[in-house]
Amino acid sequence: MTDRFVSVVIVGARGRMGQTLLRAVLDSEDMTLAGAVDRTESPGMGDDAAKLCGLPPSGVLLTDELRPPRGSVVVDFSLPGAADANIARCLELGVPLVLGTTGISGETRDLLKRAGKEIPIVSAANFSVGITLLTQLAATAARALGPEFETEIFELHHRHKRDAPSGTALRIGKAIAQATERNFDEVAVRSRDTTQSQTQSQRTAEEIGIVALRGGDSAGEHTIMFLGAGERLELTHRATDRDIFARGALRAARWLVGRPPGLYDMADVLGLGRR
Ligand code: NAD
Repeated sequence: MTDRFVSVVIVGARGRMGQTLLRAVLDSEDMTLAGAVDRTESPGMGDDAAKLCGLPPSGVLLTDELRPPRGSVVVDFSLPGAADANIARCLELGVPLVLGTTGISGETRDLLKRAGKEIPIVSAANFSVGITLLTQLAATAARALGPEFETEIFELHHRHKRDAPSGTALRIGKAIAQATERNFDEVAVRSRDTTQSQTQSQRTAEEIGIVALRGGDSAGEHTIMFLGAGERLELTHRATDRDIFARGALRAARWLVGRPPGLYDMADVLGLGRR
């Protein structure tokens, strides 16, 4: 935590994450809102941004142009198509960036890497501090337990989630594979079907199984099971509130102030170092 005010510009301010971020910034004691941006066609352009989250006027108007003042941090949770222009604008103005938008292209990733040579950036597909730690714990556990323990990942999300398995489950699987020198794409088994012959359906030792459940309103649950002979280790994270992503992103924004250029992730923000 810094001992001075952090001024934040929110991109995608009208969206679900944008409104959560707006509320968190306006309610915080160490942050000020320096801008709120959404796309031109969005309703409410020119209105006070605080109106979007039902708070008293902030004096900051919703705009369609990203013009972050010097000394501010841009927090972008919009859509993949907007990322390149936002990264380019932060680069041009020398302003740090927290990028939460998921589904960005390979070209955008390359742009992020180039931009990270000149400005500090935190990019993460999951800003939850618990998930960041869970990923590291799972990799450490897999390495320590060794090949005699089989790995299965289970995830549960609300009925509206489009992708399955979740990007987070896949990232945890990749971290485990990397920690144990396996190629994730070769060992990942995303579902099992017993209509296959018994030999084919038996798991191999190196397999990493991933099971996805959908339904209800769960904000996200991930469990990694390490199954051995006579013992089983389970690591579980349950999200009960989507605000965790906004809290993590704002923690990243505070951490970025005064940081040297670099492309960082949430593990860096938590002081966990590179995986
Ligand atoms: P949303 O659809 O509710 O909001 C997106 C907002 O971005 C909308 O208001 C839209 O008008 C705006 N937008 C679109 N194009 C824009 C542009 N060119 N300039 C400015 N604003 C623009 O989506 P959401 O649920 O708030 O999620 C936003 C993004 O954040 C998604 O990519 C989502 O996957 C991601 N997300 C990431 C995390 C994380 O921890 N990294 C967590 C939750 C959501």
